[in-house]
Amino acid sequence: MCVYNAKGLNLNNNSIALNFTDVIYKFNQMKIICVGRNYAEHVKELGNQQNSEPVVFLKPDTAIPQKDMPFFYPGFSNDVHHEIEVVIKINRVGKNIAPKFANTYYDEVTVGIDFTARDLQAELKSKGLPWEISKGFDGSAIVGSFVSKSQLPALNNLEFRLLKNSMLVQHGHTSMMLFDVDTIIAYVSKFYTLKKGDLIFTGTPAGVGPVQIGDVLEGYLMDRKLLSVCIK
Ligand code: MG
Repeated sequence: MCVYNAKGLNLNNNSIALNFTDVIYKFNQMKIICVGRNYAEHVKELGNQQNSEPVVFLKPDTAIPQKDMPFFYPGFSNDVHHEIEVVIKINRVGKNIAPKFANTYYDEVTVGIDFTARDLQAELKSKGLPWEISKGFDGSAIVGSFVSKSQLPALNNLEFRLLKNSMLVQHGHTSMMLFDVDTIIAYVSKFYTLKKGDLIFTGTPAGVGPVQIGDVLEGYLMDRKLLSVCIK
């Protein structure tokens, strides 16, 4: 039997005793916060409704593959989709952040791919169940190289795109977001304390589609190629 108390955590008879500050600081992992349905054309292509507030879900840190590893097509899906997204990195701790101060909580921006097991997601959605596993599985969060926001136009004026086997498949512009980055930060920080190193995937534009083993995906932010991933 596991016993939890205010001073620590004891697991069965294996004298593991950690107090909560150890738990918090020794296992200080970052989190990946994702926004869904943030571009009207993408909401339409999946037959979803626009929401009056951002649709938020999390991926665990294990969704980020080890450096330079390919994306390994998971055995539990036959319909993995690419979703190119602008990603921001949180630079300090914040809670209940006001929209007007939200821009002081990030310095760096990139593009990422929110890989989605669309068949699994559809099945779970149809049952009214949470669809986290279709989004948060190992390797599902590809993160490009970060660029200082000082080297980029304003965050609401960024063009980004995804090439599959050198063909353009998704092309977005952050001005088309239904909820801009600062609104997203204000909203999610009502529920989750943001910490340095946390990532926010800000939603995908239209053009999501399946990937196959052998595909090569390349993500661009403005004229910068910031990610490249092979499907194995
Ligand atoms: Mg997405």
